[in-house]
Amino acid sequence: MNGTCKMNGESEGCNNSSSSGDSGGDLVDGVSCADMFRNKEGLTYNDFIILPGYIDFIPNEVTLHAKLTRNIGLNCPLVSSPMDTVTESEMAIAMSLSGGIGIIHHNCTPEFQAQEVLKVKKYKHGFIRDPVVLSPSHTVRDVFAIKKQYGFSGTPITENGKLGGKLMGIVTSRDIDFFEGRMNVTLDEVMSTDLVTAGANVKLAEANHIMEKSKKGKLPIVNEDYELVALIARTDLKKARSFPNASKDANKQLIVGAAIGTRESDRERLEGLVAAGVDVVVLDSSQGNSSYQIEMIKFIKAKYPNLDIVAGNVVTTSQAKNLIDAGADGLRVGMGSGSICITQEVMAVGRAQATAVYNVAKYAAQFGIPIIADGGIQSVGHIIKALSLGASTCMMGSMLAGTTEAPGEYFFADGVRLKKYRGMGSLEAMERKDATSSTSGGKGGTSAAMNRYFHSEGDRMMVAQGVSGSIVDKGSVLRFLPYLESGIRHGCQDMGVRSLFELRDFTYNGKLRFERRTTSAQLEGGVHGLYNYEKRLF
Ligand code: NAD
Ligand code: IMP
Repeated sequence: MNGTCKMNGESEGCNNSSSSGDSGGDLVDGVSCADMFRNKEGLTYNDFIILPGYIDFIPNEVTLHAKLTRNIGLNCPLVSSPMDTVTESEMAIAMSLSGGIGIIHHNCTPEFQAQEVLKVKKYKHGFIRDPVVLSPSHTVRDVFAIKKQYGFSGTPITENGKLGGKLMGIVTSRDIDFFEGRMNVTLDEVMSTDLVTAGANVKLAEANHIMEKSKKGKLPIVNEDYELVALIARTDLKKARSFPNASKDANKQLIVGAAIGTRESDRERLEGLVAAGVDVVVLDSSQGNSSYQIEMIKFIKAKYPNLDIVAGNVVTTSQAKNLIDAGADGLRVGMGSGSICITQEVMAVGRAQATAVYNVAKYAAQFGIPIIADGGIQSVGHIIKALSLGASTCMMGSMLAGTTEAPGEYFFADGVRLKKYRGMGSLEAMERKDATSSTSGGKGGTSAAMNRYFHSEGDRMMVAQGVSGSIVDKGSVLRFLPYLESGIRHGCQDMGVRSLFELRDFTYNGKLRFERRTTSAQLEGGVHGLYNYEKRLF
């Protein structure tokens, strides 16, 4: 190695001179991860920095394979949080296409949640699974209304006006161009009936070919009874790109998780989720170390032995022990660190996130149980730090809220385009005041929050653990996730590790070196001294 210092050296379990190939001792900088946490202070991601290693590879060589649970692997270590302003099917599909996974929230009826899981499992790239459909007795006014609300034209017409109904025709802009003054004309008078369709088993490439030949803008997909099951849009096909890293099951379907609580009714909820094909279930609680959760894990393991369970949340090793002993396949770590969280302020309980992640991950690693660092991720740097502390994956709420795929409609305030983002323990979420359109799909039944907080007559006081707010429009998560992945690869390159598994080895054998940061060091590490600046990340 001719004097090249390949690693930073270490103080425990590793010898700098042998690993780097040079004389070493004096070249040991920083401290090992274990040493950084030795004095038992609660540290956050901002309290430390990782020292650079040696680069002899390009970022693209870094593999981001990660374990979500004992039995489920991901191609990238990113997980979307089960919150009603973060993860429904659209987000879960995008996460899975990008190599991560989405966990569908449970602040909705069991039927709605199972349906969202089903949408992910049935997803076929390029196919619109829930197109807006009208019936022959709808009017031209309805078509204009759809165009105004969603911006698209080309609406399939079925006998009953629903997906699954017999296909009767299609109405496109061209059919209603001259009908501005005749809004009450019914669609049976204007719809095109010379339809080109494809069967339900058609492959995307084949559908592409049919559309090219027919020059139609929309291709209805029908089953053998000529009932509409999906739609393909030419515009979608044109922008369709491939997702080679998508997280898929053995049947090549996208994978998806769902959150549930620990009440009796959640056992029934789970039944629907399993029937819909859920791949992993997340027991969703701020404090997972409870008899309720242990009972639930045992119940699930007995009834669905092949279903992986992420238990939590936990922040200490003794909490982790109970859940691992009960049979958890993964742990979710974080209490009080979320951007919308007031748990530490109200309950006075929780733990600084970096310390929680390090301690629980180190303990769980002995049993082969991966942990998800959940909450408090504000940047790609925080993701890299969480992974460098032993987390296998990172769960995000605020980083993904405000994207096109997050549930809810955009709105404007002071000229800024925003979306709602709220804690699941906020009063608004608990009362399920539906600020979002998609969560209203689950209205009318029993939501998790209602169950949670109104379980007995004597327990009518809700104590909020979260806030409700808004977040700036971030565009599509399909553009944002590649940025995060690229950022992680660059971080790994700087640390001198080629995979997340190697990163964890470096953490535990002391080759990865850390340093605490003073407040002024943290300020120095941010942008400073400028009159103004623009922060564009990608
Ligand atoms: P929870 O369902 O765990 O707890 C609500 C209450 O119900 C608790 O008092 C609990 O002990 C009780 N409970 C649960 N199962 C029971 C059973 N079978 N019988 C009797 N009582 C039972 O939910 P939570 O901790 O209030 O969290 C609510 C939501 O807010 C979740 O989505 C959670 O992720 C989120 N949250 C997260 C954090 C965090 O720091 N990670 C903090 C606060 C809230
Ligand atoms: P964020 O990524 O920092 O926005 O944090 C998201 C995480 O906060 C979630 O995954 C939950 O663990 C946690 N969380 C969700 N709702 C609440 C709440 O109401 N109070 C406290 N924490 C919450």
